[in-house]
Amino acid sequence: MERDVQEILLDRVQIAAKVKELGKKISEDYRGKDLLVVGILKGAIMFMADLVREIDIPITVDFMAVSSYGQSTESSGAVRILKDLEVSVEGKNVLIVEDIVDTGLTLRYLLENLKSRHPASVRVCTLLDKPSRRQVEVSPDYNGFEIPDKFVVGYGLDYAEQYRHLPYIAVLKPEAYGREE
Ligand code: 5GP
Repeated sequence: MERDVQEILLDRVQIAAKVKELGKKISEDYRGKDLLVVGILKGAIMFMADLVREIDIPITVDFMAVSSYGQSTESSGAVRILKDLEVSVEGKNVLIVEDIVDTGLTLRYLLENLKSRHPASVRVCTLLDKPSRRQVEVSPDYNGFEIPDKFVVGYGLDYAEQYRHLPYIAVLKPEAYGREE
């Protein structure tokens, strides 16, 4: 695995510090309120797991899975729900937890979809943001790191379902793409 990594953009220490900071801010902002934290599968698995442990107010958690890039590194623009929430969001304060906001198409779809279910509020927390790639106007309320226009893997993010388990955010060597394992 390590042989495929060209550059580590964010190491585990940097990520942990940021996640702690985000958890503290979210706890302060929602203190005294009910909060439903919605993790977006599969990319947000690690961020979600670490973030909720840094939130010190009572919360509930649920997950949604939406289609994204598949085997490629380019967005098709089409978003589809693969797994829906198990709880109702009506009247609740919802926080969407995303791995990365790139073109913004996925997030726009999620926001429109969840808002149509009459929540009290909807906000977004993303670990990574690539603002230079935005195609639609959406901006996360809580943002870990702004990163340059590079395709990244690790800490939940994949390329062709690989590299999700890496404990850091990295850029792959060009020869890692398309390699058959
Ligand atoms: P958007 O709809 O904003 O273009 O893309 C959102 C989704 O695309 C993310 O949730 C993620 O699954 C995928 N994505 C966007 N950029 C990257 C990237 O640099 N690396 C990986 N692994 N996935 C990405």
